[in-house]
Amino acid sequence: MPAIKKTEIAYIKGVGPKRAEAFEKLGLKYSTDLLTVYPRLYLPNTTIRSLAKFHDQNVVIKGKIIDKFKPFKPNHPTRIVIFDGTASIESLMWGNTFYREKQFKVGDEHIFWGKVAYNAYERDIKFDMRDHKKFETGDEEMMKYPFIPIYILSEELKKTWIKPLAFTKIIFNALKSSAENIAEVLSEPVRIANDLLDHKTAVLKMHYPRTMEDIEITRQTLAFEELFYLQLVMALRKRSIASAEKGIHFEKIGEKFEILFKEHLGFELTGAQKKVIKEILGDMRSNKPMNRLLQGDVGSGKTIVAVFCFLVAAENGYQSAFMCPTEILAEQHYKTLQYYFDKLGLNSVLLTGGQKKKHRETVLEEIRTGKAQVVVGTHALIQESVDFKSLGFTVIDEQHKFGVMQRAKLKAKGSNPDVLVMTATPIPRTLSLTVYGDLDVSVIDELPKNRKNIKTALRGEADRLKVYKFIRDEIKKGRQAYIVYPIIEESEKLDLKSAVKHFEIIKEDIFPDLKIGLVHGRLPWYEIDETIEAFKDKKLDILVSTTVIEVGIDIPNATIMLIEEAQRFGLSQLHQLRGRVGRGAEQSYCILMAESSGEISAERLKIMTETNDGFKISETDLKLRGPGEFFGTRQSGTLKFTAADLVKDMPLIEKARDSAFKVVNEDPQLRSHENSNIREHFLTNYRESMELIKIA
Ligand code: ADP
Ligand code: MG
Repeated sequence: MPAIKKTEIAYIKGVGPKRAEAFEKLGLKYSTDLLTVYPRLYLPNTTIRSLAKFHDQNVVIKGKIIDKFKPFKPNHPTRIVIFDGTASIESLMWGNTFYREKQFKVGDEHIFWGKVAYNAYERDIKFDMRDHKKFETGDEEMMKYPFIPIYILSEELKKTWIKPLAFTKIIFNALKSSAENIAEVLSEPVRIANDLLDHKTAVLKMHYPRTMEDIEITRQTLAFEELFYLQLVMALRKRSIASAEKGIHFEKIGEKFEILFKEHLGFELTGAQKKVIKEILGDMRSNKPMNRLLQGDVGSGKTIVAVFCFLVAAENGYQSAFMCPTEILAEQHYKTLQYYFDKLGLNSVLLTGGQKKKHRETVLEEIRTGKAQVVVGTHALIQESVDFKSLGFTVIDEQHKFGVMQRAKLKAKGSNPDVLVMTATPIPRTLSLTVYGDLDVSVIDELPKNRKNIKTALRGEADRLKVYKFIRDEIKKGRQAYIVYPIIEESEKLDLKSAVKHFEIIKEDIFPDLKIGLVHGRLPWYEIDETIEAFKDKKLDILVSTTVIEVGIDIPNATIMLIEEAQRFGLSQLHQLRGRVGRGAEQSYCILMAESSGEISAERLKIMTETNDGFKISETDLKLRGPGEFFGTRQSGTLKFTAADLVKDMPLIEKARDSAFKVVNEDPQLRSHENSNIREHFLTNYRESMELIKIA
């Protein structure tokens, strides 16, 4: 294959070194990179005579300035008259008069972007100018197309004084100079099977469509291509793990496993728990490294599943690591583990960032010598100083709180340990295919039998006294309550103040006779832990808190969750918070306080009152907020799409996945002639993500 000549952006007409720098900051280096910047809108390219047809729309016209009227006062609009051979029109141009004078000369030809307004009363058309660009050689070619594309100008580009139509022309120049270099990215069979355009046609049409219908058809091809390569990475990665790497073969499923199962559990495992334990044990026994995602709604009992795995690992002479997103959660898990391990004679340690140096040294030593069979901790686990003797099994709890690299680092602490990642964010299947497409998935789709549905209600300020009375009545019956305040990062200080202030009010004025505790993220973890323990031991009736209790806290006697300013939380987060109650046999309640004025947020919150199903809630959340928000910034680096839309393109994801896995199954090395395009495109564009993913 001949090497493709790449033109650097700086050499495209209209760019130059300064702007090239700005482009490079955006990751655009060669003229072919510019072709993947897709239009934000398409403006009909029309004549002045036809303008009346475009009432209230943005259009592009080309014409000559035949007259110009200076404003009477500075900063009033300059008036120009444009003629294009079919008719003439007047347009106002606001802004600095001095520049207007220089920009518009009678006799000059320009391309104008403006919005058309037809005034029926005056029987007149107005043309509100948005942007213009002097007509130059080469523009006539662009102006042959029925639609003119407009692209998003990022802040970085705006700094270089580039204007929309000028940017359009730059990309047009790039298209012209690089069209010949647009190589096909898929194979013929994949294209035919999925009814796609060839890549070059798709790119050209995406920028300069013939009809509006063209745009969606074309987008489908480009979106498919993006999704195909994401899935190809997944498929290759899955294959390389399955074939090349040799994992640990855990032979014994011994006595301790049975003893825990039969004697110390205190409850019967649900069918779903038994099923996933079986799936995981299957992986542990095989000598392929496990890479499994365990999905289960809040409260479905994932922790105990991990406990069983730790026993198996320990009995086979391997250490396990249990990584959690927060110190509180690590502490809680550590206690749960100790409860079981004490009975079974296993040794576990806790490792977090907040520990005293001396204590930490001892812990590290026990990890190094292998005395610590199970290590629970935060991301402190992946620090360099942590050295395992024989790490064979790792669990990552609340996986969505971690990034790919962190997962990779933990894994690298052992030699091909089995990896289980757990999440309570039940993501829609198609989305999980894009994010976790390389993992095997186990699902706990059943809650323990003793659970009652959490009753959820939406309340406003007017109901506040009633709500307090309700809480008081429940506490009299022996229950406990959480009251949660939002803390949003940007306004952390202010929010914290309000949480603390509310705590004072709750304590002094509302429930002076009850015992109230407060926890928030600014307190040292051991204080938080102390307060939570006191709450657990029923020394407190109410725990006032910020979202630090979002995950992991497990106190079955707490049955009331009052969430203040609920409209400020995302739905998935509300569901997580709500999951702190409903963990025992008593009826639990979740009360969402929201401003009565916010009708839209009330609409959004309504889903919470309608279902306890985390799956439905996350689907709604995804629709409302889009996948970027959904995964938070930590994950977004791995999800860069320009044409694809994860919400809209679910069916396309499945198709792309089927095709990609088929290609890899039939030709794992991508060596066949048929797949040469795919191989080439993969190596030039996706090698890096493969590297990243390989160690993940
Ligand atoms: P999550 O899946 O949200 O991490 P946990 O593992 O914290 O849930 O479990 C929630 C609670 O349910 C814990 O108190 C746990 O002991 C309890 N639990 C787990 N499995 C069962 C079961 N099969 N029957 C009854 N209670 C269970
Ligand atoms: Mg959990």
